[in-house]
Amino acid sequence: MNIQPQASHFIDGAYVEDTAGDKIDVIYPFTGKVVATVHAATPAIIEKAMEAATRAQREWASWTGTERGRVLRRAADIMRERNHDLSVLETYDTGKPYQETSVADATSGADALEYFGGLAGSLTGEHIQLGGGDFVYTRREALGVCVGIGAWNYPTQIASWKGAPALACGNAMIFKPSETTPLCALKVAEVLHEAGAPAGVYNVVQGMGAVGASLINDPRVAKVSLTGSVPTGQKVYAAAAAGVRHVTMELGGKSPIVIFDDADVENAVSGAILGNFYSTGQVCSNGTRVFVQKGIKEQFLRRMTERLKGVIMGDPQDEATNFGPMVSARQRDIVAGFIAKGIEEGARLVTGGKVIDGDGYFIEPTVFADVSDDMTIATDEIFGPVLSVLDFETEEEALRRANDTPFGLAASVFTADLTRAHRMVAGFEAGTCYINTHNLAPVEAPFGGSKLSGVGRENSKLAVDHYSEMKAVYVAMNDVEAPF
Ligand code: NDP
Repeated sequence: MNIQPQASHFIDGAYVEDTAGDKIDVIYPFTGKVVATVHAATPAIIEKAMEAATRAQREWASWTGTERGRVLRRAADIMRERNHDLSVLETYDTGKPYQETSVADATSGADALEYFGGLAGSLTGEHIQLGGGDFVYTRREALGVCVGIGAWNYPTQIASWKGAPALACGNAMIFKPSETTPLCALKVAEVLHEAGAPAGVYNVVQGMGAVGASLINDPRVAKVSLTGSVPTGQKVYAAAAAGVRHVTMELGGKSPIVIFDDADVENAVSGAILGNFYSTGQVCSNGTRVFVQKGIKEQFLRRMTERLKGVIMGDPQDEATNFGPMVSARQRDIVAGFIAKGIEEGARLVTGGKVIDGDGYFIEPTVFADVSDDMTIATDEIFGPVLSVLDFETEEEALRRANDTPFGLAASVFTADLTRAHRMVAGFEAGTCYINTHNLAPVEAPFGGSKLSGVGRENSKLAVDHYSEMKAVYVAMNDVEAPF
C-alpha cells in the first residue's frame, strides 16, 4: 500500500502542495522509520483554504438538509467499503494495532457521517405564537467556516466527528490534523469529495500549532473545535475568545473507575483493561484512577495480572497483535518518566513498567497498586498504558476522591447495587459516565467533559447546537405602535 499522500493538503476539492512549508516526517511507530512526508501549510496555503471554504460554505448552506445528508451518508458507505485500507493507513499513522483500527476508526467515522447525514434533513427552527396574532419563527442557520484541530490518537475519528455535524448543518470545515498523524484526515476529505461534497466544503491543511493558531485568528472563522490537551485548549479557547468565536473543547482527563466489593470482578477487570490499555492507553477518557474497594483489591489485582498475560505486542499490522507501540518516541519517554516517578514516590509496581528495547516505541502495560491521591501518577494525565489502583472503604469516600481532580471528562462505577450506581453517577463531576462499563462512545450519545476537560459536546443531537445558531424572526401582524 502506498502510504505517501498525493500531496500535503486537500483544498477546494483537490490535493495541493507547497514544498516551501516545513517538512513533517510521518514515522511508523513500530519501526521508527519515515513512511511518508508532508509539508506544513504556508500562509499562501492557509489563504487558499480560507478562500475556498468561505466561498463553498455559501453554496453548501443553500442546499436542503436532505441533499447535504445524502452526501454524508454516501461518504459513510464509501468509508465502510474502504475500511481495510483506511485501517491499514490509521495503523501506519498511529501505530495502533489493525485489530483495533479495523473496528474502531473508519467505522466510527462512518457512523458519524451516517448519523449526522440522517439528521441533516430534519434540522428545523420553531414557531412561537405571540399575542394579537404576532409570532416569531426561528431559522437554524450554519455558523460559517469552522476550524477543526485534532489530536494524534484517533485521526480518522476526530476528523469525522468534527466534520460530519459541521457539514450536516451547512458549514464548511478546515481541519488541521496533529503533525504526528497527518495522513488519515486527507482520506476523510477525499471520501467526502468523492461522495459529492462541493469543492471547498471540507479542507485539510497540515502543520504544527502555529498553523492552528493562524487558522483560529482569521476573522473569517466562526467556530473552533479542538481535541487536544488542557494547556493547548486554554490557548485555543483564549484565541477564539478574542474574536468571540464559538468553541468546542475536547480536552484531557484523569478519570476515575470506582469498583465496589459487590461488582462482577471479571467485568470490572475488563472495563479497567478497556479504560487503560486500549490504544496503548492513549485515550482521553481513560479511567486511569481505579478505585477498588478493599474487600476485592487482591482479587482484582490477581485477575488483572493474569489477564495481562493475554497481551500480544508486535507488528501492529498483524491481526493477532492486540497491543501496539506508543505513537512516538517522545510520548514513550513521557510515559516512562511517569512510571519512574510512580516508583520514586512509593507506589507498588504490580506488573509491567519497562520500555521494550528495539525500533518500536513499546512500553509494557503497567499496573501500580497502593497509589495515594497526591502521587503524580494519580494527579497528572499520563496518556499511556499506566493504571493506578487506589484503595477505598466507603461510597462517600470514593465519590469525594473520584471528584477531587480539576478534570471531568469521564467516570464509571462497577457495582451490582442499582441505586448506588445511579447515586454515584449523579454525584460524579464528569461529562461522560458509565455504569458497569467504561470508554464506549457511540455516536448517538453526547461525548465531552466538565471542568478542565472541556466545553460543549460532540456526537448526538446536541452537536447540532454547537454547529448552528438560531436566528429569531419577529413577524408583526398588526400596525407598529410608536410613542410619538
Ligand atoms: P495537543 O494539545 O498537543 O495538540 C492538539 C492539537 O492542537 C494538535 O493538532 C496541535 O498541533 C494543535 N496545537 C498545539 N498548539 C496549538 C495552538 N497554540 N493553537 C492551535 N493549535 C495548536 O494534544 P495531543 O495531540 O498531544 O493529544 C493528546 C491530548 O489530547 C491529551 O491531553 C488527550 O486527553 C486529548 N484528547 C482529548 C480527547 C477528547 O475528546 N476529550 C480525545 C483525544 C485526545 P501539533 O500536534 O501539530 O503541535
